[in-house]
Amino acid sequence: MTESMLDTVLSQFHQAADQLGLSDDHRETMTAFKTVFHTQFPVARDDGSFDIFEGYRVHHNVARGPAKGGIRYAPMVSLDEVKALAMLMTWKSAVVNIPFGGAKGGVIVDPATLSTNELRNLTRRFTTEMVPIIGPDSDIPAPDMGTNAQVMAWIMDTYSMARGYTVPGVVTGKPVSLGGSAGRQDATGRGLSYVLQEHLRDSGGVQGKRIAVQGFGNVGSVVAKLLQQEGALITYIADKDIALHNPAGVDAGAAAAYLAQGHSLPQWYEDQHPACDPVPLDSVLIADVDVIVPAAIEHVLTEENAGLVKAPLVLEGANGPTSQGADAIFKERGITVIPDILANAGGVTVSYFEWVQARQYVRWTEERVNEELRRLITSAYQTICARQQSSRGQATLRDAASWIGIERVVEATELRGIFP
Ligand code: NAD
Repeated sequence: MTESMLDTVLSQFHQAADQLGLSDDHRETMTAFKTVFHTQFPVARDDGSFDIFEGYRVHHNVARGPAKGGIRYAPMVSLDEVKALAMLMTWKSAVVNIPFGGAKGGVIVDPATLSTNELRNLTRRFTTEMVPIIGPDSDIPAPDMGTNAQVMAWIMDTYSMARGYTVPGVVTGKPVSLGGSAGRQDATGRGLSYVLQEHLRDSGGVQGKRIAVQGFGNVGSVVAKLLQQEGALITYIADKDIALHNPAGVDAGAAAAYLAQGHSLPQWYEDQHPACDPVPLDSVLIADVDVIVPAAIEHVLTEENAGLVKAPLVLEGANGPTSQGADAIFKERGITVIPDILANAGGVTVSYFEWVQARQYVRWTEERVNEELRRLITSAYQTICARQQSSRGQATLRDAASWIGIERVVEATELRGIFP
């Protein structure tokens, strides 16, 4: 049977729990999900018909604060996947030490098959179903695959209609004109870039490093653009339809700017004739480069291709891109993995800044947002590195990040005790 993402996340947890010597009671608490919400709801189609859709919202652990996590619109959404992503969010918020617990949500739908009107209907109805469990003090959704700032604006408006007043703190990732934070759009990619700069600080920095980026959406296009600005050579970029290569560097900044006008990566290649060549999609992660950045979907690095990876460093942009088997192979081969719960935490970190701004009715400048992001994520990186080094090379960065995340959640859970 193939390993599901929940299998991976749970086995990563148990591996860290074994290393920490966590008690059975703590293991039971840490693997329990506080709320598992499942809904089936109708959505009116433009032609007057309707279809039933299925959605989930899961809160994992909320000992450290309100549940926080994205909402995904994708055909492969499943309850197991949502649970896995919610658990990752708990550890991620704890790793960067922001006062949130973990949540995730999703609707089984390919948003590309819906008109704008149908997408709004679906979002408003799903939000209405979720009204009892979301809120600025309880659960704060954000964008993920297939959702964006417009979807967040609809969620905010629908929730506000139910309450009778505007509640900007109920979601993050809103449009800036509705109280979204400056810098939120680029935050995950920017966080990845900061973490990589810090990791390579003593080995020449990112300047001249050859980097392959898989996925050219919100995360991949931004990290590619920002690393190019720092002097890296983005030798491969790819989305689900095309992979492009230039040993002297693909102009990722130009590609990102073209996509921002509503075009796709294949269209950029067709229309703009950039200096690069199409290569097979599966060549990107096994390319001869210094760093690979999986920034598309989960489980793209598995036992099948982990042995073929040539890069000495994996920077996890996506959530859960590496299976447990691939992780073991990387450890054996001395390939360093900067784990998702640290590397891509820039998104939730700036979401936290947006939530703080919404609750205080203040606006931070983009400079302040980026500066605070660099401070928090760099400090998290240094704490994790120090912890890894104290294990005398026995632990991976993922082990060390998991230990820190789990310990902080266990401590909060213990201090609060069991009610009543
Ligand atoms: P997105 O929908 O904006 O982009 C996804 C990209 O991946 C697209 O370019 C798509 O074509 C590409 N893709 C899909 N399948 C592929 C495949 N098999 N091979 C190559 N490319 C493929 O999504 P996103 O927001 O950029 O999220 C990407 C990943 O990062 C997800 O795992 C998400 O959970 C994670 N993540 C996102 C954020 C955020 O702030 N958006 C934060 C943390 C983690």
